[in-house]
Parts: sequence; C-alpha cells; structure tokens
Amino acid sequence: MHFVAIAIDGPAASGKSSVARRVAEHFGFLFINSGAMYRAFTWWVLENRVNPADSAAVLSLLHRSRFECALHGRESVIRIDDRDVTEACMRLEAVNGTVSTIAALPEVRRVLVARQQDFRSMGDVVMEGRDIGTVVFPDTPFKFFLEASAEVRERRRRAQGIDDNIRERDLKDSSREADPLRAAADARRIDTSHLTLEEVTAKVIEILQIEGVKPRPPARPVMSWVYRLTYDVSKAFFRTAYAMEVHHAERAAIPGGAYFAANHASFLDPPLVGTALEEPIHYLARNTLFKPPLFTWLLPRLNTVPVDRDNAELSSLRISMQLVKEGKKMVVFPEGTRTPDGSLQPAQRGVGLLVAKTGVPVIPVRIFGSFEAFPRNRKFPRLDGKIHVVFGHPIQFSEEELAAKGKAGQQAISERVMQAIANLAVPENGS
Ligand code: C5P
Repeated sequence: MHFVAIAIDGPAASGKSSVARRVAEHFGFLFINSGAMYRAFTWWVLENRVNPADSAAVLSLLHRSRFECALHGRESVIRIDDRDVTEACMRLEAVNGTVSTIAALPEVRRVLVARQQDFRSMGDVVMEGRDIGTVVFPDTPFKFFLEASAEVRERRRRAQGIDDNIRERDLKDSSREADPLRAAADARRIDTSHLTLEEVTAKVIEILQIEGVKPRPPARPVMSWVYRLTYDVSKAFFRTAYAMEVHHAERAAIPGGAYFAANHASFLDPPLVGTALEEPIHYLARNTLFKPPLFTWLLPRLNTVPVDRDNAELSSLRISMQLVKEGKKMVVFPEGTRTPDGSLQPAQRGVGLLVAKTGVPVIPVRIFGSFEAFPRNRKFPRLDGKIHVVFGHPIQFSEEELAAKGKAGQQAISERVMQAIANLAVPENGS
C-alpha cells in the first residue's frame, strides 16, 4: 500500500523543518527530515577522519557502514554502526560546512533517497528537503516549495544562534548535477520572508485540506503480543504476590497524551503503573538497562525509550515529548531515582521541563508497598506484603505556569506534581 506523501522543499532556513513538523502533527502523519540523513552521514565521514573531498574513500565508508533509519514515535532516528547520531552531532559547524559536498555525490544520494522512499511504506508522511518533490516522491500531487530572501534566512539562522554559511550551501545545493535544489514544476511556491511560522503552516494546511488530505484518526492504542504477554504475566504476579489493588484508575482515562508522575521506591514501579491501566503506555529507562541481550530485544517492545542519565540526552527527551504530543501516555518519576528509605524524596526539575515543553496534563500516581516489597538494598523482591496503586486527578497546568521561564519555573511545576503525589492516600472504603 502506498501512503500519502507531502513534499516540502526549499533552501536552508526557509522554514521548512518547522512547517513540515507542524503540518505532520496536524494530520497525524510521519515527519521526516531528509537533511538529517545527509548530515548524519557527513558527521560519520568526519568522525572516521575520511577526507570529504576524496569521493572514493567516502563511498567506501558508505558501503561498509550500517546505516539504520528507524521510526521512534512519528519521527526518524538515525544510527550508524550502532552509534546513535544525535541532534548535536548533526548540527556541528564542521557538518554544516561539509554536508553539501557529501550530498553532491550521486551514489550517496542513491542510497539515502531509497531510505527516504521506504518511510512511505510505513505511513502517511510529510518529508522536507531539497529534492523531495523532484526525486524522492515525484508522483505526489502535494508539493510545496518554501522560499525567503537570503537576508531573511541569514537573520533566522543568526537568531537561532547557529553559525551556518547558508549562501554557500545553497549555491552548492542548487548548482550540483545530481538532484539539485529546485522547485518541482507542479510545486506550490510560498514566499515566507514576511510570514510567521504559524501563517505559513496555516496556509499549507488550508491548501492540503482543499485538496482533500484528511487527518488520520489516532489509532486506538492496542497492545502488541509481547506487551500483552508481559502485561498479563506481571499483573498475575502482582495480584498473587502482593494482592495488588488499584484505586481510581478511571481518573487516568483522559483522551490524548499525558504524563503519569509516580513516586519511585522500587524497580517494580514502572510495571505496577503499567498493569494498573488497561491501555499500553510508554516508559523511560536508563540506557544501561538495555545492555543484556534479552532486554535489548524486549524493552523497545515494551514501549521503553532509553535515556542516558549522565548525559541527559536530548534526543530521548525529544522522543518522549513527541510521544505525549502524539497522544500517548508515559510514566515518569519526579524524584529521579528510587528512594533509599521509603520516604518521598524532593522533586527534580526534569518532569517540570517535560511538562513545560509539552503542555500536556500530569496524572499523579502514588504507589504504596513497593518499597517494602523490593527496596534498593535487596537483590530480589520479597514475595509478600500488600501493594496499592492510587491515581489522582489529572493536573492541567495553566498557560501562565507553563510559560514561567527557566529552571525555577520548571522546578515549581515538579514540586507541585510531587505535592499532588504526596496528597494521595489509599481510600478508606477500599474503592
Ligand atoms: O535541511 P538541512 O539544511 O538540514 O540539509 C542539510 C544539507 O543536506 C543540505 O544543505 C543539502 O546539501 C543536503 N540535502 C540534500 N537533499 C535533501 C536534504 C538535504 O541534498 N533532500
């Protein structure tokens, strides 16, 4: 089956990335930034100390490297020879200066264009780049070409604090022989010089709606068989070993994305929250947990996103924010780590940051008894005791609270969430 493809092309800093992401969000489509693939491979060339001007050496590296483009949520992540290519790697000044040389090599384009085309077999897609309407999806009727004067584009880059010689890059991109930057004859051209991001986005969405593009209704979350099996086994275990009781799970039944914020006392907490609910949810786990082969296989299937805690990896945070913005729910632990003694710990700023950036509601969750069952200092859980999982009312932070700038504002959000967790108790009538 071929899905809908929307092509958004244009020169550097024409606004295509931001517009494409918003258009994708509006329609519930995948968002793919094709430039990221050229940047990722350029970074790899530099990382391997291959001379970018030596095309034979570059191609030899291309053919001996394993280039993986996977979907995480609705966006792509790139891994080369098992190394994650982060946003920071792709934005390096050296990459800005070299990417157009690498992207001019026809063989590099052949390989990467094929990868870009693959995304269309996974779902409807909004893809942005230089040659999406001309080469990657020439058959799509939905093509846009965003333009803006060079002065405006340079100003935008400077405002982003990015050092990027865009005039030189555009010249190289438009004068190369292989798939040069140009508007497809049937693309709609939009001059964005005097328009805001919102105005351009609205214009593109309006045109697409008139042409009959419809939003995909969000799929009802269903459990994969691996998730279902793990869920059923864990739930049976919690009920047998700890007579687990769940209170007010109906409070979690809100449409759309949200964070479950729970107190953290034990390794049992993520599956306790997960099995207290009827729908599949998402998790964050430190990347070291992904090392054992079983977990490398299992955790992604249990909707778990790896985080490098020492190195607060931006891409994982972005992925987790993307997931909730797409309408999914995710468990987070405001205390950051498991309590050493069973008491509630002070809130860390992380949850506040996630909430401030996404604006989604937070559902407080208090877990009772997981510390007694499996405290930090034990290797294995005790197999008795009683566990309760109590859900609180969702908290929707006001625009004002979300807009509170900086670390203090985020810390204040985290603290309010922690307070809401602390206020939860096991209902007396056992409801
Ligand atoms: O879009 P972005 O500025 O990140 O792209 C970086 C570079 O990748 C471009 O300057 C261009 O050389 C190359 N590119 C390309 N074809 C695409 C997307 C990007 O040649 N479809």
